[in-house]
Amino acid sequence: MKQSDVLAGHSPGLDRERGVDYRIRTSPRARSVRLQLSAREGLTVVVPRNYDLRRIPAIVEKKRSWIEAHLRRFADLSETMDRKPVDVLPETLGLPALGESWLIEYRPTNTLQVRVIIEQPGRITVYGAVQDHDACREALKRWLHLRTREELVPWLARLAGQSGFKFSEAIIRGQKTRWASCSSKGTISLSFKLLFLERDWVRCVLLHELCHTVMMNHSPRFWALLSRIEPECRVIHKRMRDSWKQVPAWVEEN
Ligand SMILES: [Zn+2]
Repeated sequence: MKQSDVLAGHSPGLDRERGVDYRIRTSPRARSVRLQLSAREGLTVVVPRNYDLRRIPAIVEKKRSWIEAHLRRFADLSETMDRKPVDVLPETLGLPALGESWLIEYRPTNTLQVRVIIEQPGRITVYGAVQDHDACREALKRWLHLRTREELVPWLARLAGQSGFKFSEAIIRGQKTRWASCSSKGTISLSFKLLFLERDWVRCVLLHELCHTVMMNHSPRFWALLSRIEPECRVIHKRMRDSWKQVPAWVEEN
């Protein structure tokens, strides 16, 4: 036997002309008429079996101001919820620059901190107060910083050696608008977001900054120098115009 049957269906909400929209549900367990309100379905009138449905409009009308006040509050609530960005933690992490893809697992433990641990290949475990999503994102970003230091800095050093450039220091950043930069003292800054780009793109960014260690501008001579080392770079730089789209949204959130 079915627990309940939906007898009438209306879209939830208010209708000034016709009164309040509602649906009727018969419940074998109901002893009297009950009004149920939910954000998703609006008003449901729950009635006992064999109830005389003609009595319902009068009951709803009597409670009208109470119902309308609640439905209005639900409408306001769902509007503010729509405006907020979705707060979802990533479950995967693709790092094309390193040819790596990772699964992310979140394990709550009784600590206030959040830590990222690699226990097996391809699997990132986030431990600690994982209900704090901001802390989880920060921990994952710290790990991306670390991977950049471990992988991109030695790569930069190798390229420098091969092409005869020297840089004094490499620092990792998470700038919003720059993939990399080079100071007049030869300090090269790399964004950890480079990890989200294709490998040959990153190679071009690294070579570009190395060229800045001898030429601090974007003159034709600069481009000629870069093209001598890697002829593809000019084409790749043009292709990189929309490359920011490859950075996942959660990485840009603060
Ligand atoms: Zn440049």
